Amino acid sequence: MPQAAVNIGLVGHIDHGKTTLTEALSGVWTDTHSEELKRGITIRLGYADTTFYRCKECGRHTTKPKCPHCGGETELLRRVSFVDAPGHEMLMATMLSGAAIMDGALLVVAANEPCPQPQTKEHLMALQIAGVKNVVIVQNKVELVSKDKVVENYEQIREFLSTTDYRDAPVIPVSAVHRANIDKLIEAIEQHISTPNRDLKKPPLMFVARSFDINKPGTRPERLRGGVVGGTLLQGRLRAGDEISIRPGLVVSRGGRTTWQHLDTKISSLHAMGSELKEATPGGLIGVGTELDPALTKSDALVGSVLGLHHSLPEVTSQLELEVHLLDRVVGLQKEVEVRPLSINEPVMISVGTAARAGMVTRVKENGVRISLKYPVCVDHGWRAAVSRRIVNKWRLIGYGIVM
Ligand code: GDP
Ligand code: MG
Ligand code: ZN
Repeated sequence: MPQAAVNIGLVGHIDHGKTTLTEALSGVWTDTHSEELKRGITIRLGYADTTFYRCKECGRHTTKPKCPHCGGETELLRRVSFVDAPGHEMLMATMLSGAAIMDGALLVVAANEPCPQPQTKEHLMALQIAGVKNVVIVQNKVELVSKDKVVENYEQIREFLSTTDYRDAPVIPVSAVHRANIDKLIEAIEQHISTPNRDLKKPPLMFVARSFDINKPGTRPERLRGGVVGGTLLQGRLRAGDEISIRPGLVVSRGGRTTWQHLDTKISSLHAMGSELKEATPGGLIGVGTELDPALTKSDALVGSVLGLHHSLPEVTSQLELEVHLLDRVVGLQKEVEVRPLSINEPVMISVGTAARAGMVTRVKENGVRISLKYPVCVDHGWRAAVSRRIVNKWRLIGYGIVM
């Protein structure tokens, strides 16, 4: 199977059906960690690939190579990667690291609850801040309510969208558990979430969204496979055998002092959802097999790092100068409050690429601030960073900054 061409995020309030819809679209249940299974909520970013087809006979859209509606022959449209984000307010940093690799998104809204719920708002704002332009709204669980209620909920969704950048986004009613209207949803995705133009000539740059140790416990040392990092290439291409660097890389704590050390290694293999790739290009999620000690990559240890060739990666820094753009109001709270300007010595949370970092405002100028981060990031000028502030004990998105 070829690599997916596009990354589509699933975002929205907890329990509105993101993981169930991901499964309806891809056949993959993404909540597979023991903690996720126990608690029934998505904690880490989930991945699932699928293929979209259109029937040559009846014209309906499907994920099956043979049309399930009429048995007709289909044509392949494209391969798609889904990124299933957690909808719990405590996991906003994970959602934001997902938003950094989304080319488009599905905002899932349950029809049996008033809209917008707090994370419905917060996630849509996060997409806006991350610069994700193409969004399809999925009105889920429609089989639970009467037709009148579906219409009423639809009006609420439209009203809410009218206050955002997504006022023209389509709203598609579905039932994820009953697999109802999924063909219409795929059709809307094909119409509204196009595959972006990618620059293959630039040096490769990948945001690390996951990292793993794929060895079973007890594997003999000579059989150990090297560490694997998962993520998305933003530009350029990677090939097996490439010498790469991962930055900032590894956190090292010695004698109370924390430093970071970049990791240099070689690509041993490239994968897209189980299939081996000769070459990876921007688009869907890829897994990069390396010669690193798997202890370095286990349990998402490298999430937030950037992967590329030795001499072409951006700088690593713990001092960020940001041109700041604050929201008018804080979203995600039951009762909204105004966003006050950043002040000196204020603690903040910065999400840039797939990295989430605690930091402190050390300088405030007109339109710009300097932030001193606890751990460094590998960033380039012009990148967008989401800025969160602690409000009643939780990090809340208050705006974004452009790295100067
Ligand atoms: P997430 O937190 O957004 O990922 O939501 P989940 O996919 O985990 O779903 C939360 C709950 O809603 C589960 O019990 C699902 O079975 C249920 N659910 C999801 N989609 C539908 C639907 O279309 N109809 C109904 N009735 N329940 C649904
Ligand atoms: Mg989920
Ligand atoms: Zn058909």
